[in-house]
Amino acid sequence: MILEISINLLPQEEKNEKVINRKLFEQLENKNITFTRENTTFVFVKKSIDARRKQVKLFMRYKAYIDELPGQENKIPEWKTVDDSCKKVIVAGSGPAGLFGAFTLLEKGIKPVIIERGQTTHERKRDIAKISTAGIVDGNSNYCFGEGGAGTFSDGKLYTRSNKRGSINSVLALFHYFGADEKILTDAHPHIGTDKLPVIIENMRNKILELGGEIHFNTRLESFITENSTIVKGVHTVNTITGEEKDFYGDALLLATGHSAFDIYESLAKTNPESLEAKTFAVGVRVEHPRELIDKIQFHGKNENLGAAEYRLVTQVDGRGVYSFCMCPGGFVVPSATEKDEIVVNGMSSARRNSRWSNAAIVVETKPEDIPQEFVEKAKAINCPQMAGLYWRRWLEQETFKHGNNQQAPAQLLTDFLKGKESQTLPQSSYTAGLTSSRLDLWLPEQIANRLKKAFYDFDSRMKGYICDQALMIASETRTSTPVRILRDKESCQSMALKNLYPAGEGAGYAGGIVSSAMDGINSCLKIAQALLEK
Ligand SMILES: Cc1cc2nc3c(=O)[nH]c(=O)nc-3n(C[C@H](O)[C@H](O)[C@H](O)COP(=O)(O)OP(=O)(O)OC[C@H]3O[C@@H](n4cnc5c(N)ncnc54)[C@H](O)[C@@H]3O)c2cc1C
Repeated sequence: MILEISINLLPQEEKNEKVINRKLFEQLENKNITFTRENTTFVFVKKSIDARRKQVKLFMRYKAYIDELPGQENKIPEWKTVDDSCKKVIVAGSGPAGLFGAFTLLEKGIKPVIIERGQTTHERKRDIAKISTAGIVDGNSNYCFGEGGAGTFSDGKLYTRSNKRGSINSVLALFHYFGADEKILTDAHPHIGTDKLPVIIENMRNKILELGGEIHFNTRLESFITENSTIVKGVHTVNTITGEEKDFYGDALLLATGHSAFDIYESLAKTNPESLEAKTFAVGVRVEHPRELIDKIQFHGKNENLGAAEYRLVTQVDGRGVYSFCMCPGGFVVPSATEKDEIVVNGMSSARRNSRWSNAAIVVETKPEDIPQEFVEKAKAINCPQMAGLYWRRWLEQETFKHGNNQQAPAQLLTDFLKGKESQTLPQSSYTAGLTSSRLDLWLPEQIANRLKKAFYDFDSRMKGYICDQALMIASETRTSTPVRILRDKESCQSMALKNLYPAGEGAGYAGGIVSSAMDGINSCLKIAQALLEK
């Protein structure tokens, strides 16, 4: 018999085997079942921290195996070696959706040919450093583009709102197999850290190559090669370093280019406007506090030795949700633009989450009907009104650039934002590209600024001290999700407008975050395999 049981511990009891065992057996005794201590094995499943009350508690889940041996969960699949005699799938984008999708194809004996516009993680590190040190943004190699996708230089938070436990575990198991700490398999809020992710991604690349897959870096998908404008046969690409053009052909195309690939959306809008649908997204700012302050608020003034504290805030203002997103405890705010004339911010942290700051995006839900008419007209001009949200997003990112100074982001003290006054001095920040004092209260779109103001008061009522003269707002956070969805059939995951095209991951509008994008890549490739191998 296998049973799931949970116990509560005080933080200082976490490593106390005696207390843990006593509490576990007490739980079993309460269940009125037959067992002996000798024939019972406990396997730790998950830990979460409950800091809602004054006494912080740890909530621990275990599996009790009674008269059974612990199962072989999180098994790694068996991959096949592939070559040109196998079915071939072009995978555009090496983010979580593309990489995890590629491993699913290998499991099925299908050859993945990955084309990636950006550099390898090694070269990418150099390009990312240039953004902070010289304000130079490479349009193909940056925080969003390059090997491993947008998640490579990130917090590597592996949470998802999805509740498909089996699929989540298989993604975590693969990350663990390629080098992530074992803790990700058991933490309720697992994270890898930006210092560990690049090596894991490189290990994944080496395995794909060893099994016969192909990976082409600095290779940007420019257009689809189609038959009768309806069936995708391959892709036309350009080498971003040499300018050399090359066509790739395959039995299907997994389009996993992420939500920053403006050019991909534009090309779809021009050739197949009916393949896109406008969707709700969110925009706002990053808010940064000293980490110590957030820890004090969340752990009720005590030092519980529980690491940097997290928070999650959500409220409704004037009919729209305002919420925290991608909270990075002990982290950094990073410049994640993909064009040189825009400023976009995001957050990341190292495995130890030990910087002096904690930050989170605070964003306002934005529906298609909230987009100003001017951008709807612009989208209508290319016969694709669904693109209005994307045009507005781009305008806001360029507007932010105008109020900054190169990649120095416009920023304002939260208290000054609420009072409507300029910040004379800005506190030290983790944002290494630098900050420029700016009246965000004056130039952020009214629908965003007004809602942020009201939401901050609400947040402060729940996290006393959230509004303080050390809290800093940094603009603009615009890429928490995509403003357009690439339509696909629910059952087959295939584009409804273009045969053989499988849009997947965050850019296609079916996932948000590393784990759910990986899961979507896996699911789409299972559908591709079904279609190709059952033909
Ligand atoms: C700084 C930062 C921190 C983040 N932190 C977290 C976190 O802690 N936890 C979390 O869950 N999520 C985080 N995210 C979001 C997460 O990274 C994304 O949700 C996830 O990577 C989406 O996966 P994807 O595979 O769908 O797309 P992406 O990861 O965006 O990958 C798309 C890939 O396609 C490539 N590409 C784009 N256009 C083309 C083209 N024309 N031709 C060829 N290749 C192309 C890109 O270079 C990129 O490698 C963070 C994002 C950023 C930027």
